[in-house]
Amino acid sequence: MIDNINRTSRNIHPNNTVIKVCDTEIGGGNLTIIAGPCSVESEEQILEIAKSIKNSGANILRGGAFKPRTSPYDFQGMEADGIKLLKLAKQETGLPIVSEIVGLRHLNLFEDIDILQVGARNMQNFELLKELGKTNKPILLKRGFSNSIKELLSSAEYIMSSGNDKVILCERGIRTFETLTRNTLDLSAVPLLKEISHLPVIVDPSHGTGIAKLVSPMSLAAIAAGSDGIMVEVHNDPDNALSDGDQSITPTQFYDLVQKARKVKNILL
Ligand code: PEP
Ligand code: MN
Repeated sequence: MIDNINRTSRNIHPNNTVIKVCDTEIGGGNLTIIAGPCSVESEEQILEIAKSIKNSGANILRGGAFKPRTSPYDFQGMEADGIKLLKLAKQETGLPIVSEIVGLRHLNLFEDIDILQVGARNMQNFELLKELGKTNKPILLKRGFSNSIKELLSSAEYIMSSGNDKVILCERGIRTFETLTRNTLDLSAVPLLKEISHLPVIVDPSHGTGIAKLVSPMSLAAIAAGSDGIMVEVHNDPDNALSDGDQSITPTQFYDLVQKARKVKNILL
């Protein structure tokens, strides 16, 4: 597949990699459901969302504290205060946390964060990847919107060749000529990645479509295609969200999605 021997390949590691995060295991036949707001906005917001997604059966809470926004004038995240609120949400619910790291100088702030996300915009920030490879944190590596599957695997290789085997791949849509959706969710990447790599694969249909109504059907399609889980944006007040409200589902819609997701997963077993 990729030139040189590589650590992401199923050829050298035939069994599925299973990554343990607190009490939950990602990969190896488990269905992992990651949910939460695009951005942490306030204590009330993150606690309300965290409690509701926990009650609906989510395994992991997501929430952005550092937001890589296209415009410098858009909300940039609560930064260090957002990380504190995520830790509080973990204390209150027991849910492990995933949050995006946008720069190496923030690494010390992420000490108690369970999974570090490398976002689409940083998928080829090789210095960041190499440093994260020296940590023992699971890394959720999102596919860049202009990057090939091969390049995603090469970026995973950067992390793994630096010493960290705990990489979770995330398909989150790529940029195409289509304009009615935010991105084109490449679900064919899922069975292909599962074929050529032993790493767990998660699908993010929120950024993959940009449209709340498409999140549930594309989540179910992702599971049917063999993904190890989904990551979806959930907000208690999408109309007033500080980022990505259009693609955020409500806690009620999330509850409904989890029920259906489990049914689809069970059909495959
Ligand atoms: C996110 O998950 O909040 C995010 C910014 O996603 P992406 O990097 O896929 O755009
Ligand atoms: Mn978002």
